[in-house]
Amino acid sequence: MCAQTIRSEEMFKRARNVVPGGVHSNARYLAPYPLYFLRAEGNKIWDIDGNEYLDYFVNHGAIVLGHRYPKVENAVRTQMDSGLAAGYESELTVSTTEDLVAMIPHAEMARFAGSGSDAVMSSIHIARGYTGRKKILKAEGAWHGTYDYACASYRSPLAKAGPKKNPRTIPESTGFVHPDIVKNTIIAPFNDSAALEKIVKKNKKTLAAVIIEPIIHNSGAIMPKSGYLKSIREITKKHGVLLIFDEVITGFRGAPGGAQQYYDIEADLATYGKAIANGYPVAAIVGKKDILEASGPDTKSSIGGFGGVIYGGTFHAHHLAVAACKATMAELKDGRVAKHLNELTDILATGVKEISADTHLNMRIDGLGGEFTIYFTDRSPSDYREAITTDNGNGKKFLSLQKHLQQNGIRLLPRHIYHHGFSYSHTREDIERLLRGVREWSAQSK
Ligand code: PLP
Repeated sequence: MCAQTIRSEEMFKRARNVVPGGVHSNARYLAPYPLYFLRAEGNKIWDIDGNEYLDYFVNHGAIVLGHRYPKVENAVRTQMDSGLAAGYESELTVSTTEDLVAMIPHAEMARFAGSGSDAVMSSIHIARGYTGRKKILKAEGAWHGTYDYACASYRSPLAKAGPKKNPRTIPESTGFVHPDIVKNTIIAPFNDSAALEKIVKKNKKTLAAVIIEPIIHNSGAIMPKSGYLKSIREITKKHGVLLIFDEVITGFRGAPGGAQQYYDIEADLATYGKAIANGYPVAAIVGKKDILEASGPDTKSSIGGFGGVIYGGTFHAHHLAVAACKATMAELKDGRVAKHLNELTDILATGVKEISADTHLNMRIDGLGGEFTIYFTDRSPSDYREAITTDNGNGKKFLSLQKHLQQNGIRLLPRHIYHHGFSYSHTREDIERLLRGVREWSAQSK
């Protein structure tokens, strides 16, 4: 790491005495030490050494409008004056739920949750409670947060991953009850309808839901093949299994109604987080009334019954985050933000394609709605196994590119097949600056 981040290096030494690895989320640890930041504004972020970066991380994709976006900040400030924080319902929590239901196609009801992981966990509880079945199915390479049953076969080592068409379930963590997860979490390859149907058919009596990232951003940006998401919908319907769209990243980026709208798919449940409140901590589950009602309280009990599927949390619908969510949705709903993000993603992809053709470096951009990845390969990966083996499976070219860009004030996260992103506050000039950086690095690397 370059000398100009000496204060981050010192902060890391201090932090690791009191925080494991010096970070509060393991993904933030980046060797040899993570950077520590001071402030953010619009399209930029400043570290504690005073370095300014054009930000292509945007809070794991959560900043969709820009850092300190004035309309969102004003809404939060105004809400602060009410004194309401967590633990209460109000006109704001009701009207923002109405906004969510109005913005998401096919949505009939919604419930706020604390984080993406929390929303995913509850959506799986609801699917199980509603169907009376135990198993869920997820795609290899997809990440749905840290809930035990959704947190498997994200970074399966290929030597242990089993057959491509019928991957093994590999829990991602110690501390999980492995035999139970292996039994109840089934893995399928992405973009292979025939393989999916075979697995669903075999398990249909015990399978509650298929949960899917419509674009697998957590392995970069594995795009669904034309017709694939529709085929998942047909297969799940045919076999009486619920479909959960995990839109924690795609939510409100490629289209105001997220991937359900962009790809014209009607999921039974969908989870949201990150961008729905422009970086404020709130998540949501949205879906069909009869399914979501399974998580409601027992309104007949005179002593306040919890209902069938348990649902709750102190910070659910925290008023500051909900105020941010309302203001963010107001900006997103006419589609101008998605249009801007999609146009800039296309410009970036075309620019990298040209650089790749000139330099023979086999680089490409895949993505949508301002969330993208740079793959070093000659064609878009269609599943996890293709994605993880790009860039010789070691990410060396990408890491070299990331280093060059960071030294020139442009920050992508130094992780192989990770998703990068930008916001509505990023301009065409920002994309051109990124492209110039990629071109300079490519000229040196030829
Ligand atoms: N689902 C997807 C698709 C995600 O990308 C993430 C987080 O990266 C989650 C769920 C979990 O969300 P959170 O980190 O807010 O718990």
